[in-house]
Amino acid sequence: MLSVVIPAYNEKNNIKKASETICCILDREAIPFELLFVDDGSSDGTWNEIIDQHEIRNNIRGISFSRNFGKESAIYAGLAESKGDCVVVIDCDLQHPPEKIVDMYNLWKAGFEIVEGVKNNRGKESGLHSFAAKCFYDLISDAAGSDLRHASDYKLLDRKAVNALINMPEKNSFFRALSSWIGFKSTQIEYDVREREDGETKWTTRSLTRYAINNITSFTSAPIHAVTLLGGILFILSFILSIIAIYQKIAGTALKGFTTVIIFQCITSSIIMISLGIIGFYISKIYEEIKGRPRYIVSKRT
Ligand code: UDP
Ligand code: MG
Repeated sequence: MLSVVIPAYNEKNNIKKASETICCILDREAIPFELLFVDDGSSDGTWNEIIDQHEIRNNIRGISFSRNFGKESAIYAGLAESKGDCVVVIDCDLQHPPEKIVDMYNLWKAGFEIVEGVKNNRGKESGLHSFAAKCFYDLISDAAGSDLRHASDYKLLDRKAVNALINMPEKNSFFRALSSWIGFKSTQIEYDVREREDGETKWTTRSLTRYAINNITSFTSAPIHAVTLLGGILFILSFILSIIAIYQKIAGTALKGFTTVIIFQCITSSIIMISLGIIGFYISKIYEEIKGRPRYIVSKRT
C-alpha cells in the first residue's frame, strides 16, 4: 500500500481539491493507497474539510495538531502515522504535480527506495530571495554531501527509509536534507512547480529566515568552523600589525597609525560579537534538544 502524507496549514479550500485529484489519479492506476492529512493547527475550517473527506472515503485519514508546529513536524507526524509500504509527501496546494506520484510509485516498484522530486524551476522569486536561497542551499548541500538546490519535500520513501527517519532522536530535523543524508538506493524525478491552487504561501521573509537559520544550525556546524577560520585570519592580521607597530616604535614614528588601531578594534569587536551570536545559536539548539520536548502534539484524529 502507498501512503500519501499531506501537511496542511490553513488550506480549507485546497483539501477537497487535493483529495479528489489524488484519489482520482491513484484509482485510475489501481494503486492501493491511503491519504493522510496532517492539520498543522489550522485556524480556518481545514479540520472540518478533512473530516468531510474521511466520511466520503475511509482510506482518507487525518490527524490534527494542538497548535501550529510547522511543516517539518507535520511531515514527521505523517510519516509516523502512515501505514504504507512506501510513503509520498506532497503539498496540499497542488504545487507538486500529483500525476508524478504514479511515476514515483513505479520507480519504487522497480526497486528504488527513495524517489526525490526535483524542481525544474524554482517558481517566481525576487533577486534577493534567490540569492539567499542559493547561499542557504550551498551550505546545506555541502553538509548533506549532495546537491539540494533543486530539492523539495515532494518525495517517495520506502518503509525502511521512513523508519530510519522517524527513529532519529533529534527534534530539529530538516526533512529535505536528512532524507538525502540517510542514503538508500535513490533516484530523482523532475517536475515543474505550479502556481498555488488557492490562498497564498504561508512563508513570510521573517519565517523563512528563521527556518533557514534553524535548519543550518541543526544540520551543519560550518558556521562554527567559520568562526575559527575568522579567528585565524585575524591572528595573522594582528601579527603583521604588531610587527609594523614594533618597527614604528623602534624607528621613533610610533604616534602615527592611530586610524589603523581604531579600525582594527572595530573589526575585531564586531567579529567577536557575531561569533558569540553564532555560538549562541548552537547552544540554544543543544538546549532545545536536551529538553526533549516532542516534535508535535496530536489533539484530534479521524
Ligand atoms: N504547511 C504546514 N505548516 C506550516 C506551513 C505550511 O503544514 O506551518 C504546509 C502547507 O499547508 C502546504 C505546504 O506546507 O501544504 C507548503 O506550504 P506553502 O505552500 O505555504 O509553501 P511554499 O509552497 O510557498 O514553499
Ligand atoms: Mg506551496
